[in-house]
Amino acid sequence: MLPSPPPATPLRGDIKADWVILGAGLAGLAAARRLAELQPDASIALVEARRVGFGAAGRNSGFMIDLPHDLNSHDYTGDRTKDLQQIRLNRGAIDYLRDIVQRHSIDCDWREQGKLHGAVEKHGIKALEAFAKGLSGLDEPYSTLNAAEMKAVTGTDFYQAGLHAPGAVLVQPAALVRGLAAALPENVQLYEDTAVHSIETGARHVLVTDHGRIQSPRLILANNAYASQFGGLGLKGNILPVYTYGSLSRQLRPDELERLGGEESWGLIPADPMGTTVRRMGFGRICIRNSFVYRPGITAGRQHLARVKAAHQRSFERRFSMLPGIDMEYTWGGALCLTRNGGTPFGEIAPGVFSAVCQNGLGLTSGTTSGKLIAEYAVGIESELLDIMLQIPKPASNPPEPLLGLGVRSTLAWKEWHAGSEL
Ligand SMILES: Cc1cc2nc3c(=O)[nH]c(=O)nc-3n(C[C@H](O)[C@H](O)[C@H](O)COP(=O)(O)OP(=O)(O)OC[C@H]3O[C@@H](n4cnc5c(N)ncnc54)[C@H](O)[C@@H]3O)c2cc1C
Repeated sequence: MLPSPPPATPLRGDIKADWVILGAGLAGLAAARRLAELQPDASIALVEARRVGFGAAGRNSGFMIDLPHDLNSHDYTGDRTKDLQQIRLNRGAIDYLRDIVQRHSIDCDWREQGKLHGAVEKHGIKALEAFAKGLSGLDEPYSTLNAAEMKAVTGTDFYQAGLHAPGAVLVQPAALVRGLAAALPENVQLYEDTAVHSIETGARHVLVTDHGRIQSPRLILANNAYASQFGGLGLKGNILPVYTYGSLSRQLRPDELERLGGEESWGLIPADPMGTTVRRMGFGRICIRNSFVYRPGITAGRQHLARVKAAHQRSFERRFSMLPGIDMEYTWGGALCLTRNGGTPFGEIAPGVFSAVCQNGLGLTSGTTSGKLIAEYAVGIESELLDIMLQIPKPASNPPEPLLGLGVRSTLAWKEWHAGSEL
């Protein structure tokens, strides 16, 4: 929906750089900026297979989440110490991005309006109660909403109970990442439309692309789920490429918006982590996100997209029966990178190879944190946030295929079934 970006600069020929960063999503953009801040004289090559914003970093639901948000857990909170540390990391990312957005006047519909959690049925209501208890234990503010109050915000009587937590920020993610890329410091050279096909690690790592090669002694991996495609890095099998899908309704007309009622902009996370995330965007469209599918080949799958679109249409109609016949104008999928234990391979995974991959579904904050902190780690800067990051466990190892695929698919299917009408 944004205007076309200016022409890309793909890599042509062989270059050398002090640093190379693979992937210009949230993690890659944050790593590039932080490195450039710390080493203004270093040459930094940032390589992106597509245009910035065309991948998951630009095509997500735009929740910048400050609170713990474990997709595996029904109450979203767990160990108090770990939760408080997670909150510090997430808020560090929000503060960092807020500062950049303000300094560079990035127009990305930045809204400090928090997030709603919505429950539809009994088990969802129970999950919200557990979440509220967890938040009280963390001394985090929140307010609860009954069905009528949920309707006053969302316009629909679909939700029986809700909880509002004020710390999350909502953004237009494509505008955010495009703005971040345009505001990169001068010693970062961004090569878009430049897919890396192979990586040879050594004293000088060599990254081979369609029309060139990059040599650099230091490589930062910020390619999230796609890191599983490069065999020699020891990540394959431990990080799980899982797709989730989004749809955006067509623009609602003024009479339709009036019929819908509620507030002009809100974002709702389902009480069940496998349920449906819904956002009413400030510009009058509704965004639906649900469905998790294990896709080790990292493609959305055309046939699957058609099925997802129909499922999203049903999710929309169940919630917004006052708006019949509204088409989902866009439907897409994007790769998340999950691990079984919520761990991350953050750190130096081979001499001169640093990993900022695997955001466990929370790329806006975790991706930014991983990227910023990996740059600090790689140049030897110490900080409390970095200490916290280094304490996060490494990914649990997994059984080989086909057992792995069977396990992930059946777990996802069971959880989706359990989500019931929260979907
Ligand atoms: C529909 C949907 C909704 C979501 N909603 C939210 C949300 O509300 N809040 C939230 O926090 N997260 C959300 N996410 C997750 C979030 O988008 C990701 O976690 C985030 O994008 C991860 O950021 P990243 O920079 O680590 O990786 P990515 O955004 O995946 O970036 C990696 C980049 O590396 C590039 N790359 C990969 N391989 C190569 C190669 N060989 N050569 C060159 N470049 C390469 C890719 O093109 C990509 O741009 C959602 C995701 C989807 C799909």
